Amino acid sequence: MTSSNSAMATRSLSVSSAMATDSADNAQNDNSAGAEQTPLPAPQDAAAARDGSDEAQAQGVCMAAGVEGWDRRLQIGGVFIILGVSALGAMLPVACKHVAWLNVNARLLTLGKFFGAGVILATAFVHMLGGATEALKDDCVDGRMGDFDSWPGFLAMVAVLAMHLMEHVLTARYIGSDSELAHTLSRHANTLADASPGAHTPQLLGDEERKAGEPKQRAAGHMHGALFADERRRQLSTYILELGIALHSVIVGMTLAVTGGAEYKTLLAAISFHQFFEGMALGTRIAELNFKRRPLVLGLLNALVFALTTPLGQTIGIAVRQSFAPRSPTTLVTMGVLDSLSAGILMYSAIVNLLVEEFAAPEFRVSSRNARIACFAAMYAGCAGMSIIGKWA
Ligand SMILES: [Zn+2]
Repeated sequence: MTSSNSAMATRSLSVSSAMATDSADNAQNDNSAGAEQTPLPAPQDAAAARDGSDEAQAQGVCMAAGVEGWDRRLQIGGVFIILGVSALGAMLPVACKHVAWLNVNARLLTLGKFFGAGVILATAFVHMLGGATEALKDDCVDGRMGDFDSWPGFLAMVAVLAMHLMEHVLTARYIGSDSELAHTLSRHANTLADASPGAHTPQLLGDEERKAGEPKQRAAGHMHGALFADERRRQLSTYILELGIALHSVIVGMTLAVTGGAEYKTLLAAISFHQFFEGMALGTRIAELNFKRRPLVLGLLNALVFALTTPLGQTIGIAVRQSFAPRSPTTLVTMGVLDSLSAGILMYSAIVNLLVEEFAAPEFRVSSRNARIACFAAMYAGCAGMSIIGKWA
């Protein structure tokens, strides 16, 4: 759900909404005056029947379908434009990483990765949480979510906890049992004790390891199992991130497909940037995956899956535009819940897997001051860019 889009919709609908409320009141008055003679028609929406005064509003405004000024040519053109920019954004980092003759500076790819981290963070906090709040607070939801205002935050928290639990379970499975882990820890301790004699306890190991900026020392303590688990975890968290971004992209595509008139072009432009930046963010993550065979093909396929999401949403939207009611309670609740859960997935991914892990990585900490400043700047730029786009899409 886009902020300006629904804001506009709210604005244009507020007049008719007021009228609908008036007529609802009239209908109610008429009804109470002569209920026996003129019973109200049976409401289509069972939930709307609970509150008679809201019925006309629910029927008139919330269930309104069809798009004014809808242009088939522009819409179909839009599908290909969005497909193109999404594919470009997502495939560029993958190609840069695996195609030798493109000869892209590794530093540029790193900057792209941190820019992408910012994009994901802003997508979660600005786009998804903002959109979900707007959708679930909409008048048309009308008490269906109960007397609780914090659903978006609550659902995002549930998604964060689910991500956390999943990472823990997978780490346990791939690293091995607790006794094996204890063994690994004692080996870690020995390695570190050998490297720098002193009082090293396994409990302090995490800090010690982080303080030791040298990659060599860190690598010496690492077991193959841990590296394997890291890779598996990275792979899975990338796929889940892809899923979270994909859900939002489908919603955005559907919104675009049921937008007509002058607003369409503005939204198309905003969503083009939206998909390009998000594609880049995801592409840099996909490029980091170590596929054993055919890394370029598998990487590009992953990027293609993302590139198809918004066009898929657009196609669905175009197909159902006559009957699709953007402000129907079902639509709003579905979009609100999906966006909230996606927000949690992206928050966890951005903060834990990108901000914490990338910035704590030895390679990052031993790089020059200017290089680190550039990484921070790239991340802030990603946040800023995506936040600004949040005004439209
Ligand atoms: Zn968005």
